[in-house]
Amino acid sequence: MTSSHPPHGPAALRPETLAVAAGRPERTQGAPVNPPLVLSSTYVSQGVQQPGEMLYTRMDTETWHPFEEALAALEGAGEPAVAFGSGMAAIAAALSSVPAGGTVVLPRHAYQVTLGFVDDLTRRAGVTVRRVDVADTDQVVAALDGASLLLVESPTNPMLEVADLPALLTAARERDVLSVVDNTFATPLGQQPLAHGADVVVHSVTKYLAGHSDVVLGAAVTDSPEIAARLRAYRTLHGSVPGPFEVWLALRGLRTLALRVERSQANAAELAHRLAAHPGVAEVRHPSLPDDPGHERAARLMHGFGSILGLRPHGGPAAADALVAAVRLWVPATSLGGVESSLERRRRFATESLTVPEDLLRLSVGIESVEDLWSDLEQALDGLRT
Ligand SMILES: *Cc1c(COP(=O)(O)O)cnc(C)c1O
Repeated sequence: MTSSHPPHGPAALRPETLAVAAGRPERTQGAPVNPPLVLSSTYVSQGVQQPGEMLYTRMDTETWHPFEEALAALEGAGEPAVAFGSGMAAIAAALSSVPAGGTVVLPRHAYQVTLGFVDDLTRRAGVTVRRVDVADTDQVVAALDGASLLLVESPTNPMLEVADLPALLTAARERDVLSVVDNTFATPLGQQPLAHGADVVVHSVTKYLAGHSDVVLGAAVTDSPEIAARLRAYRTLHGSVPGPFEVWLALRGLRTLALRVERSQANAAELAHRLAAHPGVAEVRHPSLPDDPGHERAARLMHGFGSILGLRPHGGPAAADALVAAVRLWVPATSLGGVESSLERRRRFATESLTVPEDLLRLSVGIESVEDLWSDLEQALDGLRT
C-alpha cells in the first residue's frame, strides 16, 4: 500500500520536495522506505474480482502506482498518471479520441515520430493534419476551427520555439478542442500545462523523468476522471503497458529530477553564452539567450529555460558532422534528457522536418562539469577552423 501524499498534503509541498516525497509507502514501523518491485504477471484469484484487487499485470500492477502518483503530484493532477510502455504509446493513447475524418493541429516541428504517427492517421482514417508554428499564436488559434484535437510541444523539438501555452489552451477549451501537451522538454518543474487548461499532458519518461538513458517509458496525466478511465482502458485493450521494473527505475530516477534539471539547465545556459561568442559558431539557439526568439515568453511562462541547445557551426552540414566526430566527452547519440551530454545532427534522419536546417545540431546538456563540456566543444570547434 502506498500513500499518494506525504502527511502535510501535496499543496503544501514544493515540486522539488514532491519529486522526493510522493509515492512512498505508508510510514508504519518496519515498512520499507521505497516501494517494492513486484515481478508477477498474475495474482492469486478466483471467483469475482473485488475492487482494488490485482488480477493480471496487463490490467494493473501495484508497482506502477507509486510512479503514477508521484508524476500526478508533480503535474498537479487530481487523477493518478497512466504509465505506458513508451512516450509514443502514451501519445497514441492520447490521440485515440480523434475520430476518422477528424482534424489534428500540431507543431510543424513536433517530435518526428509524432509527425509520422499523425501521417499514419491520415492514411488509415482520413484525418486532416494542420501543422502550425506554435510560436505564432494567431496562426494556431485560426487552425483550431473545426479541429478535434490540439497537440502542443513547447519548447519544440528540435527548434526550441516557445508557445504561449495559456493562450493556446484557453482558445482550444473555448472551441471544445481536446488539448494535449507533450511536456517532455520542459518537465513538470518547468511548466504545469494542466494549470493552464490542458486536458492531457504526455511525457516521454525515457528522457528527463527517468533521466539515466536506461529506460524506455511513457505516461499520460489528466485531471479528468473520464479521460483517465479511457486512457487506462486503452492501455489494457492495446497492451501498451510498461514493465514493472522500468517503472520502478523511473521512480528511482525521478527522485533526483530537480537536482538534475537545475544543474543541466545552468550548464546549458552557460554553454549557450560561450558558444554565442565563439567564431566557429553561426547560430546558437537557447531560450536563455536575451536575443533568442523564445526568450521573453519562456522567461514569463516557464521556470528555467531547459537544457536543450540548437547549434549551427560555420561550414554547413559537413562541419556539423565533423564536430560530432571530433567530440570526445559528448556522446554522439539520439535521445536526450540523460545525465550524460549528447549531440546529433537532426537532418541525418530523412524523416526530420524539412524546415529544420541541414546543419542544426541538437545538444542535450547533462550534469557533468561545465568546464569539461566546454573544453570538449571548444577543441572540436577549433579543429573545424584549422
Ligand atoms: C522522445 C520523445 C517522444 C517519444 O518518446 P519515446 O519514449 O521514445 O517513445 C515524444 N515526444 C518528445 C518530445 C520526445 O523527445
